[in-house]
Amino acid sequence: ETPKTTYERVMLKISGEALMGDQGFGLHPPTVQRIAQEVKSVHDLGVEICMVIGGGNIFRGLSGSAQGMERTTADYMGMLATVMNALAMQSALEEVGVFTRVISAIRMDEVCEPYIRRRAVRHLEKKRVCIFAAGTGNPYFTTDTAATLRANEMACQAIFMGKNGVDGVYDKDPKIHSDAVRYDSVSYDDVLTKRLRVMDASAIALARDNNLPLIVFGLDEPGGFRGILAGEGTYTKVQ
Ligand code: UDP
Repeated sequence: ETPKTTYERVMLKISGEALMGDQGFGLHPPTVQRIAQEVKSVHDLGVEICMVIGGGNIFRGLSGSAQGMERTTADYMGMLATVMNALAMQSALEEVGVFTRVISAIRMDEVCEPYIRRRAVRHLEKKRVCIFAAGTGNPYFTTDTAATLRANEMACQAIFMGKNGVDGVYDKDPKIHSDAVRYDSVSYDDVLTKRLRVMDASAIALARDNNLPLIVFGLDEPGGFRGILAGEGTYTKVQ
C-alpha cells in the first residue's frame, strides 16, 4: 500500500558527510546510491523535491582558514566541493530513472545550470529533482543557510534534515549521554538559546522568521525518508 503524504514540495538537506560512508572522506558511491533510492521512493509519491548537499566530506572553509588559508578563498573551495557532491547525487538519481537538475549559485555553465528562480520552479513542476549547489554563493555562509534560503524561494512546506547516526534533536549529545532525551517538537528559539545542534544560528533565524518548519530525522533507516513524509517513524519538528 502506498503511504499518503500531505507534502507537495519539500527540501531535503543532507551534509556532505552523509555521502562518505565509513571512509571518513570523500564520496562512497554505494552510499550515494542508497540515498538516491531514498529520494526516488519519495519522488514516486509525487512529491516535488529540492535538495541541498553540504561539502564537508571534501572541504570546509573554516578548517582551511584554520590552516592559514584566506577565509573567503577557503569558503569558495567549500562551495565548489558542494558542486561535486551535487553531481554525484545527480548521476545516482538519473541512474534510477529520476530526472534532475543541478543548479549552482555560482555560474559554471558547462557543468550545471545557473540559479534562476522561475526556471527552478518550473523544473519542480515538471517533477525534476532540483539539487541546489554552491551554497548561497557567498563566503561566511553554510549550506544550512542555502537550504533555508532556497526552501523559502521555492515555497517548500518544510526542510527535512537527514542526519546520520541520530534520529532527531536531543537535549544533549546522545552519542555521549545515554540519558539524552529526544524532543518530539522544539521551538526555533529553544534551538538558539540552548544551542541545540540542528543548523547554524543564521539558518535557524531565517527559518524562524519565515515560519519554515524543520523536520530532523535519521537517514540511516532504509525507507526512513518516505516514512517520515507519511508521518511515520521518529523525528523532531522544529517550529
Ligand atoms: N560555503 C560557503 N557559503 C555557502 C555554503 C557553503 O562559503 O553559502 C562553504 C563553507 O566554507 C563550508 C563549505 O562550503 O564550510 C561546505 O559547506 P557546509 O560546511 O555547510 O557542508 P556540510 O557541513 O553540510 O557538509
